Amino acid sequence: MHTVSIEQVPPEFRDDPRLRILVANSERWLNHPELCPPNSAEHPASRLDERLKYRIAAHESGHFVYFQRMGWKTKLVGPEIAFRNNQFYFQPAGLVPLNEVEDGAGKIDKFDVLKAFLGGPILVELLTGEPDAFLKGDIENVKRWLGVGPADVFEYADLLLEVTSRIIDDLQDPAFVKQIQKTMHEFARQLYPELNN
Ligand SMILES: [Zn+2]
Repeated sequence: MHTVSIEQVPPEFRDDPRLRILVANSERWLNHPELCPPNSAEHPASRLDERLKYRIAAHESGHFVYFQRMGWKTKLVGPEIAFRNNQFYFQPAGLVPLNEVEDGAGKIDKFDVLKAFLGGPILVELLTGEPDAFLKGDIENVKRWLGVGPADVFEYADLLLEVTSRIIDDLQDPAFVKQIQKTMHEFARQLYPELNN
Protein backbone atom coordinates (compact mmCIF):
# COMPACT_ATOMS: atom_id res chain seq x y z
CA MET A 1 0.00 0.00 0.00
CA HIS A 2 1.55 3.29 -1.13
CA THR A 3 1.44 6.46 0.92
CA VAL A 4 2.63 9.86 -0.23
CA SER A 5 5.00 11.88 1.93
CA ILE A 6 4.17 15.52 2.72
CA GLU A 7 7.44 16.06 4.61
CA GLN A 8 8.54 18.72 2.11
CA VAL A 9 5.41 20.84 2.58
CA PRO A 10 5.96 23.55 5.22
CA PRO A 11 3.86 22.79 8.33
CA GLU A 12 1.79 25.97 7.97
CA PHE A 13 0.46 24.76 4.59
CA ARG A 14 -0.41 21.22 5.62
CA ASP A 15 -4.07 22.05 6.37
CA ASP A 16 -4.64 23.38 2.86
CA PRO A 17 -7.63 21.57 1.28
CA ARG A 18 -5.78 21.47 -2.08
CA LEU A 19 -3.08 19.37 -0.41
CA ARG A 20 -5.62 16.97 1.06
CA ILE A 21 -7.19 16.40 -2.36
CA LEU A 22 -3.82 15.96 -4.12
CA VAL A 23 -2.63 13.46 -1.49
CA ALA A 24 -5.84 11.44 -1.82
CA ASN A 25 -5.68 11.46 -5.64
CA SER A 26 -1.98 10.61 -5.69
CA GLU A 27 -2.38 7.69 -3.29
CA ARG A 28 -5.35 6.38 -5.22
CA TRP A 29 -3.32 6.60 -8.42
CA LEU A 30 -0.24 4.90 -6.99
CA ASN A 31 -2.27 2.04 -5.60
CA HIS A 32 -4.58 1.66 -8.58
CA PRO A 33 -2.56 2.45 -11.70
CA GLU A 34 -5.55 1.74 -13.93
CA LEU A 35 -7.02 5.07 -12.77
CA CYS A 36 -6.22 8.42 -14.34
CA PRO A 37 -3.34 10.34 -12.75
CA PRO A 38 -3.94 13.34 -10.51
CA ASN A 39 -3.97 16.58 -12.40
CA SER A 40 -0.50 18.07 -12.20
CA ALA A 41 1.62 20.06 -14.60
CA GLU A 42 4.62 17.99 -13.52
CA HIS A 43 3.59 14.87 -15.36
CA PRO A 44 0.87 15.35 -17.92
CA ALA A 45 1.83 12.01 -19.45
CA SER A 46 0.40 8.58 -19.14
CA ARG A 47 -0.94 6.53 -16.27
CA LEU A 48 1.42 5.24 -13.66
CA ASP A 49 1.36 1.69 -14.90
CA GLU A 50 4.28 -0.67 -14.38
CA ARG A 51 6.05 0.57 -17.47
CA LEU A 52 5.97 4.14 -16.24
CA LYS A 53 7.26 3.04 -12.85
CA TYR A 54 10.30 1.47 -14.52
CA ARG A 55 10.78 4.59 -16.64
CA ILE A 56 10.78 6.70 -13.47
CA ALA A 57 13.36 4.35 -11.90
CA ALA A 58 15.48 4.58 -15.07
CA HIS A 59 15.18 8.38 -15.08
CA GLU A 60 16.40 8.72 -11.49
CA SER A 61 19.21 6.19 -12.21
CA GLY A 62 20.40 8.37 -15.08
CA HIS A 63 20.75 11.31 -12.69
CA PHE A 64 22.26 9.14 -9.96
CA VAL A 65 25.14 7.55 -11.87
CA TYR A 66 26.38 10.93 -13.07
CA PHE A 67 26.11 12.55 -9.64
CA GLN A 68 27.96 9.54 -8.25
CA ARG A 69 30.74 9.95 -10.85
CA MET A 70 31.28 13.52 -9.63
CA GLY A 71 31.50 12.22 -6.07
CA TRP A 72 28.27 13.96 -5.06
CA LYS A 73 25.94 12.38 -2.56
CA THR A 74 22.23 12.18 -3.37
CA LYS A 75 19.08 10.96 -1.71
CA LEU A 76 16.25 9.13 -3.47
CA VAL A 77 12.89 10.52 -2.33
CA GLY A 78 9.26 9.97 -3.14
CA PRO A 79 6.53 9.43 -3.86
CA GLU A 80 5.86 12.81 -2.29
CA ILE A 81 4.15 16.17 -2.52
CA ALA A 82 6.39 19.14 -3.30
CA PHE A 83 5.47 22.77 -2.66
CA ARG A 84 6.76 25.57 -4.87
CA ASN A 85 5.38 29.03 -5.67
CA ASN A 86 2.31 28.40 -3.54
CA GLN A 87 1.49 25.28 -5.61
CA PHE A 88 1.42 21.63 -4.63
CA TYR A 89 2.95 19.05 -6.98
CA PHE A 90 2.87 15.30 -6.89
CA GLN A 91 6.32 13.80 -7.56
CA PRO A 92 6.41 10.03 -8.08
CA ALA A 93 10.17 10.15 -7.37
CA GLY A 94 13.07 12.56 -7.09
CA LEU A 95 16.80 12.56 -6.56
CA VAL A 96 17.99 15.31 -4.26
CA PRO A 97 21.68 16.33 -4.45
CA LEU A 98 22.94 16.70 -0.89
CA ASN A 99 25.77 18.99 -2.03
CA GLU A 100 24.92 22.53 -3.00
CA VAL A 101 25.15 22.63 -6.80
CA GLU A 102 26.70 26.09 -6.61
CA ASP A 103 29.52 24.80 -4.40
CA GLY A 104 31.28 23.23 -7.31
CA ALA A 105 30.76 25.98 -9.88
CA GLY A 106 34.08 26.90 -11.41
CA LYS A 107 35.82 23.88 -9.91
CA ILE A 108 34.05 21.14 -11.82
CA ASP A 109 33.54 20.39 -15.50
CA LYS A 110 30.35 22.06 -16.70
CA PHE A 111 29.50 19.00 -18.79
CA ASP A 112 29.71 16.68 -15.80
CA VAL A 113 27.05 18.76 -14.05
CA LEU A 114 24.93 18.97 -17.20
CA LYS A 115 25.11 15.20 -17.63
CA ALA A 116 23.91 14.78 -14.04
CA PHE A 117 21.00 17.19 -14.62
CA LEU A 118 20.00 15.73 -17.99
CA GLY A 119 21.16 12.11 -17.69
CA GLY A 120 17.70 11.09 -16.41
CA PRO A 121 15.48 12.24 -19.28
CA ILE A 122 18.05 11.69 -22.04
CA LEU A 123 18.65 8.14 -20.91
CA VAL A 124 14.94 7.33 -20.79
CA GLU A 125 14.47 8.71 -24.31
CA LEU A 126 17.48 6.78 -25.64
CA LEU A 127 16.40 3.55 -23.97
CA THR A 128 12.71 3.67 -24.83
CA GLY A 129 12.54 5.81 -27.97
CA GLU A 130 9.75 7.84 -26.38
CA PRO A 131 9.78 11.36 -24.93
CA ASP A 132 10.33 11.58 -21.19
CA ALA A 133 7.40 13.08 -19.30
CA PHE A 134 9.66 14.68 -16.71
CA LEU A 135 12.08 16.47 -19.05
CA LYS A 136 10.55 19.89 -18.42
CA GLY A 137 11.53 20.13 -14.75
CA ASP A 138 15.11 19.01 -15.49
CA ILE A 139 15.48 21.56 -18.31
CA GLU A 140 14.26 24.26 -15.93
CA ASN A 141 16.93 23.23 -13.41
CA VAL A 142 19.61 23.40 -16.10
CA LYS A 143 18.50 26.84 -17.27
CA ARG A 144 18.47 28.09 -13.71
CA TRP A 145 21.94 26.68 -13.07
CA LEU A 146 23.39 28.08 -16.29
CA GLY A 147 21.48 31.36 -15.94
CA VAL A 148 20.22 31.05 -19.53
CA GLY A 149 18.01 33.84 -20.85
CA PRO A 150 16.01 33.87 -24.09
CA ALA A 151 18.93 35.53 -25.94
CA ASP A 152 21.28 32.63 -25.23
CA VAL A 153 19.14 30.08 -26.97
CA PHE A 154 21.73 29.08 -29.60
CA GLU A 155 24.52 28.67 -27.12
CA TYR A 156 22.12 26.63 -25.01
CA ALA A 157 21.15 24.42 -27.96
CA ASP A 158 24.85 23.72 -28.63
CA LEU A 159 25.33 22.70 -25.01
CA LEU A 160 22.33 20.35 -25.11
CA LEU A 161 23.61 18.67 -28.29
CA GLU A 162 27.04 18.24 -26.75
CA VAL A 163 25.64 16.75 -23.52
CA THR A 164 23.46 14.33 -25.47
CA SER A 165 26.36 13.16 -27.62
CA ARG A 166 28.55 12.66 -24.54
CA ILE A 167 25.85 10.55 -22.89
CA ILE A 168 25.52 8.46 -26.08
CA ASP A 169 29.32 7.94 -25.92
CA ASP A 170 29.07 6.82 -22.27
CA LEU A 171 26.47 4.22 -23.27
CA GLN A 172 29.08 2.49 -25.44
CA ASP A 173 30.77 1.37 -22.22
CA PRO A 174 29.23 -1.94 -21.04
CA ALA A 175 30.35 -1.31 -17.43
CA PHE A 176 28.44 1.98 -17.43
CA VAL A 177 25.32 0.35 -18.84
CA LYS A 178 25.55 -2.38 -16.18
CA GLN A 179 25.80 0.24 -13.44
CA ILE A 180 22.65 1.93 -14.73
CA GLN A 181 20.77 -1.37 -14.91
CA LYS A 182 21.75 -2.26 -11.36
CA THR A 183 20.74 1.19 -10.05
CA MET A 184 17.46 1.10 -11.94
CA HIS A 185 16.43 -2.20 -10.35
CA GLU A 186 17.46 -0.96 -6.91
CA PHE A 187 15.47 2.26 -7.34
CA ALA A 188 12.42 0.42 -8.69
CA ARG A 189 12.49 -1.84 -5.63
CA GLN A 190 12.82 1.12 -3.25
CA LEU A 191 10.17 3.31 -4.86
CA TYR A 192 7.64 0.69 -5.89
CA PRO A 193 8.16 -2.45 -3.79
CA GLU A 194 5.16 -4.10 -5.43
CA LEU A 195 7.14 -4.53 -8.65
CA ASN A 196 8.78 -7.92 -9.09
CA ASN A 197 12.20 -7.11 -10.44
ZN1 LIG B 1 14.91 14.37 -13.60
